[in-house]
Amino acid sequence: MYFSAKEMLAQLEGSDKRICDLVIKNEVEISETTREKVFEMLEERYQVMYNSAHEALEKEIRSLSGLTGGSAKKMWEYCKKGNTICDNTIIRGAAYALSCLEVNASMGLIVAAPTAGACGILPGALLTTAEKYDIPHEQVLEALATASGIGQLIVKKATVSGAEGGCQAECGSAASMAAAAIVEMLGGTPAQAFDAAAIAMQNIMGLVCDPVAGLVEMPCAKRNASGVANALVSADLALSGIFSEVPFDEVIEAMYKVGKALPSTLRETALGGLATTPTGLAMKEKIYGNHAEASACTGNCASCGGCN
Ligand code: SF4
Repeated sequence: MYFSAKEMLAQLEGSDKRICDLVIKNEVEISETTREKVFEMLEERYQVMYNSAHEALEKEIRSLSGLTGGSAKKMWEYCKKGNTICDNTIIRGAAYALSCLEVNASMGLIVAAPTAGACGILPGALLTTAEKYDIPHEQVLEALATASGIGQLIVKKATVSGAEGGCQAECGSAASMAAAAIVEMLGGTPAQAFDAAAIAMQNIMGLVCDPVAGLVEMPCAKRNASGVANALVSADLALSGIFSEVPFDEVIEAMYKVGKALPSTLRETALGGLATTPTGLAMKEKIYGNHAEASACTGNCASCGGCN
């Protein structure tokens, strides 16, 4: 068992084992299962991630609220033209991430990695990198185990919930998980993987959670697309030999403190940030109609009448 990056690195020291090896071994022990069974579970998650990352690329999927949809298809068509400012790996990954968010907003099946709101970053970054380097499938599954190890540590030391720690806790954690997974998948050391995870989190520390109309759509989808770039740049930084001056464990503790310091209006309540801009409020009104104060519902229907 392990409770911090420091402990993990101490357990790995002097061996050629990776973070994913520790995570898989730990899972075998605590779930009293076999390595084969763990890989079966990883494969299951991979398939859901793969499907959700591709489902909205060719056909437009709109959310139930009508707030978002069609962005993944637009990005995919733009990507295929081959004339994008960013490298094709990033744009492809961003399209995958948008697809996952659109599938989620239409009540489709996604893997909450670590949450539904941040479900596009890990598949987006991981799949596009695996394709670029033609990584053998088993190594991609191992990378998912690396990602889950980073997620485990964040949950132990802090939170992955936007309601508790802001968007940094959701999209930051997803980018950390993806960055570390990619570093290990490409042959980086465990220390480099933790550096990548720490850098990815630092990059968006302080980011608030302010979903328009309280729905996990806007700005969530675009934050997932940019989260892919964050994960990939962080992985490249770590693989180039640049390290995080502040170690992963301390970064996560700092993120948690920042999250706790955020006012509740900026933690998924839709009472601040983009949610309360004139445009955000108008969108909310359009969705809920005369029940625009749905989020403030007290259950006292007779005095409100909004549902009638
Ligand atoms: S803005 Fe809030 S709901 Fe949307 S992804 Fe970020 S944490 Fe999740």
